[in-house]
Amino acid sequence: MITRTLTALLAFALLTGGCAPTAAPASASAVSSTEVPAAVSPTQAPAIAAARPTAAPTASPSATPEPPAEPALPPEVAVQAPALIPSAEGDLAGAGAWDRYTIIAALSPGELSVRGTVTLDMVNRYGVDLDQIYFHLYPNHPDFGGRLDVTSATVNGAQVHSGTQHGDTLLHLDLPAPLAPGESARVVLGFTARTPRGASDETFGAYNFEAGVWSMANFYPILARHTADIGWDTRPIVSRGDFTVSSVALYDVTIDAPNGWALLSTGVTISDGPVNEQVHRQRFVSGPQREFYLGALQGLAQAEAVVDGTRIVSYYQAKNPRAGQEGLAVAERSLRAFNQRYGSYPLAELEVVQSALTQFLGMEYPGVVLIEQKLYTEGGRGLETTIAHEIAHQWWYSQVGNDAQGEAWLDEGLASYSQVVYYEATGEPEKAAAELQFFRNTFRNARAAGRDAPLSSSPAQLSGGRYYPVIYAKGPLFFQALRDQLGEQGFDAFIHAYYSAFRYQDIVGDDLLRVAQDSCGCDLTQLYDDWVRTAAPVAIP
Ligand SMILES: [Zn+2]
Repeated sequence: MITRTLTALLAFALLTGGCAPTAAPASASAVSSTEVPAAVSPTQAPAIAAARPTAAPTASPSATPEPPAEPALPPEVAVQAPALIPSAEGDLAGAGAWDRYTIIAALSPGELSVRGTVTLDMVNRYGVDLDQIYFHLYPNHPDFGGRLDVTSATVNGAQVHSGTQHGDTLLHLDLPAPLAPGESARVVLGFTARTPRGASDETFGAYNFEAGVWSMANFYPILARHTADIGWDTRPIVSRGDFTVSSVALYDVTIDAPNGWALLSTGVTISDGPVNEQVHRQRFVSGPQREFYLGALQGLAQAEAVVDGTRIVSYYQAKNPRAGQEGLAVAERSLRAFNQRYGSYPLAELEVVQSALTQFLGMEYPGVVLIEQKLYTEGGRGLETTIAHEIAHQWWYSQVGNDAQGEAWLDEGLASYSQVVYYEATGEPEKAAAELQFFRNTFRNARAAGRDAPLSSSPAQLSGGRYYPVIYAKGPLFFQALRDQLGEQGFDAFIHAYYSAFRYQDIVGDDLLRVAQDSCGCDLTQLYDDWVRTAAPVAIP
């Protein structure tokens, strides 16, 4: 992210974000209007057939042999298929590696609250007994200016003791008996989230209602990561850069909302129907995604297009129709460019939303990017560059996941370098060169002022004005240096291999080094040491 001070200085500086909006109802809701969402258990969630329609039988039998039948997916996984483009539906065969969230909640716009339950079906994949389970409660960080309160907690049907730390941003559940490796658990948490209103000049605009967008980023408890070296991720949140550190999961989310609010979320809508005269119930599936974004819109216009099987929707204020259409066109070009340069975006929807972010220019969530509203009226390249950057995060953050609070350079460096890639793909080499020159100037000035640092530095370590130039300027320059060393074909092979190997995974910098070396059959340790592990006086490419 970029602070307000920095945005004043750096017109094109950017940040991160991702999610999905309203879609045509797939079928009428199967839930009776007398049911309250919070009372519906995950297994009772609206049982709507969501599978993509199979091809109608052809009139004449085919002469080619039938392909062997694929093993049937369990219904709770098969229901996720509409969130993926058809060519990526096979990715669901890997669902055994992902936990599943079922969220059932109701919106109360009058008090800007979301109340409901989240059910997490998780497996201990960590090789050690678990005595506790940890969740992030991001909205309790002061930057959010709101609350997320957990009102009940059970594990496998039994109430458990819980507690919080780090200013209520970290929740732990104490298990009555250790959860052994390979064992599964069903965690059910009741929660209430509340966002502020009109607060983007003071707090995090992605958790706020303003300018027709009620943005509820991080509105539910999200499972912390557990790694072999440190165990549960219990670090306090650092308010520099992106907050969310989580692993890919499958989300099945049912939301009751008053009529007149258009819901926007990660993934796709698979059903939408009336609960009563005032309220409708909408159900979403995410596909494999790192988190679930939810927003509710009032009064925004929209335009949409399809690129390579992905539906893109641009939501914009009705007074900015030209910029709203331009936002859609940029998103189309971005998706086309990155599909070709990195590998296919596997998800069926992507939304771009004009939002009141105020203190930063853009924010990525899986399947949804939020773009600061002023960029729609200022003209120039800010809107285009910001949208390209945030959409690149769909590859670098949403798909290939890194520790944003530890190695922010991995996703921010590549998302920023994608600004160069984007303008190369649109046939505007002079703009690509200008992006690169901006990175050079920013890093050169920072280094001259003593603000260089290893790329591997965590955001917490990058105080004193070093975060922006190191992560957003030195970061993309590393990828240019790597490209210079590998050559065009070599870099192309590396970036495809990197995306292909680590899609849906959590990675660290050494994984990038390993794939780069494997793809070129060369030794890159000197380059990597100079840029990433140390602050050697590198030659600026
Ligand atoms: Zn970013």
